[in-house]
Amino acid sequence: MELSDDITSLKGIGDKTAALFKRVGVCSLWELLNHIPADYQTYPGLIKAKDIEPKETCAVKLTIKGTVNTLRVRGLSILNVTAGDETGTVMLSWYNMPYLKKVLKPGMTKIFFGKAEIRRDNLNLVQCRMMDPGEYEELEGQLSPVYHLTKGLTGKSVQKAVRTVMKDCVFPEDFLSEEERRSLDLPKLSDSFEKIHFPKDRQEALYARKRLVFNEFYFFIRNVRRLKNNAKKTENSFPMMESALCTRFMESLPYELTGAQKRTYADIIKDLASKHAMNRLIQGDVGSGKTVVALLAMLDAAANGFQAALMAPTEVLAVQHMKNITGMLKGFDINCVLLTGGMTEKEKRTARKSIAEGGAQIVIGTHALITDLVEFKSLALAITDEQHRFGVGQRKALSDKCGGKMPHVLVMSATPIPRTLAIILYGDLDISVMDELPKSRLPIKNCVVDRRYRPKAYSFIRDEVKKGHQAYVICPLVEESESSDCENVEDYTCLLREKLGDDIRVAMLHGRMRPKEKDAVMRDFSEGNTDVLVSTTVVEVGVDVPNATVMLIEDAHMFGLSQLHQLRGRIGRGKDQSFCIFMDNSKSREKNERLQIMNSTNDGFRVASEDLKLRGPGDIFGFRQSGELSFRIGDIFTDAKLLQQASDYADSHPLSSEDGDGIDDEKYGMAYLL
Ligand code: ADP
Ligand code: MG
Repeated sequence: MELSDDITSLKGIGDKTAALFKRVGVCSLWELLNHIPADYQTYPGLIKAKDIEPKETCAVKLTIKGTVNTLRVRGLSILNVTAGDETGTVMLSWYNMPYLKKVLKPGMTKIFFGKAEIRRDNLNLVQCRMMDPGEYEELEGQLSPVYHLTKGLTGKSVQKAVRTVMKDCVFPEDFLSEEERRSLDLPKLSDSFEKIHFPKDRQEALYARKRLVFNEFYFFIRNVRRLKNNAKKTENSFPMMESALCTRFMESLPYELTGAQKRTYADIIKDLASKHAMNRLIQGDVGSGKTVVALLAMLDAAANGFQAALMAPTEVLAVQHMKNITGMLKGFDINCVLLTGGMTEKEKRTARKSIAEGGAQIVIGTHALITDLVEFKSLALAITDEQHRFGVGQRKALSDKCGGKMPHVLVMSATPIPRTLAIILYGDLDISVMDELPKSRLPIKNCVVDRRYRPKAYSFIRDEVKKGHQAYVICPLVEESESSDCENVEDYTCLLREKLGDDIRVAMLHGRMRPKEKDAVMRDFSEGNTDVLVSTTVVEVGVDVPNATVMLIEDAHMFGLSQLHQLRGRIGRGKDQSFCIFMDNSKSREKNERLQIMNSTNDGFRVASEDLKLRGPGDIFGFRQSGELSFRIGDIFTDAKLLQQASDYADSHPLSSEDGDGIDDEKYGMAYLL
């Protein structure tokens, strides 16, 4: 068995299980190894019923006392049953697990492991796991990995698969020599996989993680260098002249471009006319107005007789761009075409035809535009929105689409990163920084509060809606979870509907919904048909609804600062005063300090550098990565030191030929960085 093999090459993994693995991003055995635990769980010693404390995770040996009571609340089925030992009783509850009714018999004794909560003045173990005493004994005191899973896939099955791979596969020789490892203080590659999945303690897991992060950064940096070497040589196959169309378009806008927008557009015009193909990153804080600059570049392409494509990370964003851009182009004779997976086959066929025949001058879609079989007549400019990475593989696909000629590439990102990191990460790109917000904007007003403030927050939201505005409410989770008491979108939507009353329309949005549903919800919100949108971080990138003036972020302490900044960027986009309420439920001084940074500034670059200062290695596990710059394992902020080390190591081991230096990305399972 080779590590590059498909996951189905493991015994016991058929197509059905493979499909589940695929849902969490695991297709090959390398990907399985890189599917590292999101966190680790320790199993505490058994306690007695009387010692159960609310909000604590505990394990108790209990006997089922009564019969199971089933409730249905808003489509949710809830099972309740009392259980106890000689010291007291407690209520056990499960959501959406109706089959347990047959399992839970009076007199049955098991170990129940879960989190205690107060529900209606009663102590309640919610969604707990049930185990035989022997089974629990084996786990007790151990550090056990918690994986990102999907329905039907258990942590046990992931662990079992990893075990087999560790046992049966031969690892490639470590490209770091023992001496190099010692001087970098990193473990051997094969050991680090063993230890990240089966650590003795947290220390060991952290040490293993260091190596995996180093790897990921190192291979990424090599790719950036490779791109840089090649980019220098790419000639400009699509030279363009500045067009009168753009001047006319600028005059038609209801506002004047900011200085930063004008400067950036000037950079672009120079690139489009120069000897080499454009390779530019626009780094501009949320709300700085990147879209209109992208549109100007696309208009230039159209005026010069070429096609331009704008690619968004999600369908929701693609649809939104289409709507905004066609709005701005009213009265201009420019043909814009949308192509997304959510369209009907017939619509897609029509769009493809117009793209292939050249009728479509501006094409808007997701990255499927270059990965799928879309044919362009004369694509000369490719723009990716809200993406920092545009790797070797994507570039190759792009030039293949253009008969081997490399079109101009423009990458737009709102992730504010400090200069030193930017140079490492974007070494291959020219950078335009848009560091100026449109003048008409009022700075967002912020506050950090705790749960006691909720009634006030709800009445504030109600008042804003009454004024005709809209609001976002952000929760960390999609649904009720057994391992966290953070707010979830599903329950919170019900709660808000109750609190806000019938005349306020509340909708919900999260990543587990089907693309079509998500689009519909987003469309309703952007057209003002719903007032309040309860959502996970899926709205964090790019969504533009200027009428939204309030954002309430529940469990704000759970998010990274840069991510909070991205989220907050969804408001303050129009002419009205906007407000951001950070709900801190942590009761931790340190976490509150972080939130005070959000309170004190709206400047993304300041947020990012403070973030960098505050985040220590302790935060790594169980911490959501910084928005869009998501490596699988590493985090550019927390792991900034490793990023520097990887960069230094790449400096001292320069690429020897155009195509590499003998270290094969695929051999080390890092092809996904291409
Ligand atoms: P982002 O940089 O986050 O992608 P957008 O391009 O979505 O920002 O722009 C945010 C909002 O600002 C949009 O509603 C857009 O119409 C508006 N906008 C863009 N440029 C200006 C400007 N120079 N003056 C006023 N409003 C502007
Ligand atoms: Mg944008």
